[in-house]
Amino acid sequence: MQGGGLGCFSAICMNLMGRTGEADYLTSCFSGTWSSIAAKEAAKYGKVNMVFPRPETRSIPHPRTWKLSENASFVFYCDNETVDGVEFNYVPETRGVPLVADMSSNIMTKKVDVSKYGIIFAGAQKNIGPSGVVLVIVREDLLGNASKYCPTVFDFAHISKNNSVHHTPTTFSVYVMEKVLQWIKRCGGVDKMAQNSHDKSTTLYNAITNSNNFYVCPIEESCRSRINIPFRVGGANGDDALESKFLEEAEKLRMYQLKGHRSVGGIRASLYNATSVEDVKLLVQFMEEFRKQHG
Ligand code: PMP
Repeated sequence: MQGGGLGCFSAICMNLMGRTGEADYLTSCFSGTWSSIAAKEAAKYGKVNMVFPRPETRSIPHPRTWKLSENASFVFYCDNETVDGVEFNYVPETRGVPLVADMSSNIMTKKVDVSKYGIIFAGAQKNIGPSGVVLVIVREDLLGNASKYCPTVFDFAHISKNNSVHHTPTTFSVYVMEKVLQWIKRCGGVDKMAQNSHDKSTTLYNAITNSNNFYVCPIEESCRSRINIPFRVGGANGDDALESKFLEEAEKLRMYQLKGHRSVGGIRASLYNATSVEDVKLLVQFMEEFRKQHG
C-alpha cells in the first residue's frame, strides 16, 4: 500500500476500531516513540487503553503487569522501537484479541510466525525498499470492518479485493522492492539476515559492555534491539563534546548517520540488513581506538 508507516497508524484504526470503539496500546513514553505516536493518532478514532503500568522505564514492563481490556478491537505494539532501541523478543499474548504489529524497522531480520498476528505492517524504507510504500499483511477474517469514512485507498478489504492495485501503485518503489527481496534470497534468505542481525548486535553490545563505562547503552538488557543500538559516549549521561568528536571522527572514516535521534540524543547505530557484519567490526575497531585516545 501507499502512505508509509504513519498512514498505517490511521488505516488500522479506520479498519478495525469500529468493531468495539476501543483498542489497547502497548507503549511507554520513555521507550516507545513510534507506538506513542500511533496511540495519539488512534485517539482520533476511539478510546485508547494504555496497557503498561506507570511509572515507566526504558524497558518493556513484564506481561504480568499489563492491563489488557476485555473490549479491545485490537492490541497494537511496535516490535522494534527504532528511535529508542527497544525490541520485543517474544510475541505478546493477547488472549484472542487481534494483535497488530508495527515491524517497520525489523521486518526481514527474523522469521515471523504470521499466524499469531491480526495485522503486520512495515514501512518499506529500512529493509524492503524505498520510503512511501508499506507492506501490510491482514488476517482475512479482519477484512470488511472499515468505517464508512475510511478512504477507499486505505480500506484493506477493498485493496485486497483489487490485488493491491486499486489505484496506481508506487511503481518504481515496488520495482526496487523486488530487487531487494531477490538480494535477500541470494544472501541466504531471512535466516541469514537473522544470523547477521544476531552477530552484528552481539559484536556491538560486547564492545559497549567491555568499554569500562566509556560507552553506555541505556536500555535494559532483556529488551535491547538487535537493529537500532543507542549508546552514550563518555559515561551514562554522555559528554556532548566527546559525542560531537566521535561523530566527526567517524565521518572521516565514512561512517555516517550515527547521531542519535534528536529526541534522545547520543549515538545510534542502525544495523539494517544493508549493514554487513564487516561494517560493524570496523565500527567497533573505531570505537576501541577512540576510547584509547579519549577514555
Ligand atoms: N514505525 C516505525 C517503527 C518507524 O521506524 C517509522 C519510521 N522511521 C515509522 C513507523 C513511520 O514510518 P513512515 O515514515 O513511513 O511514515
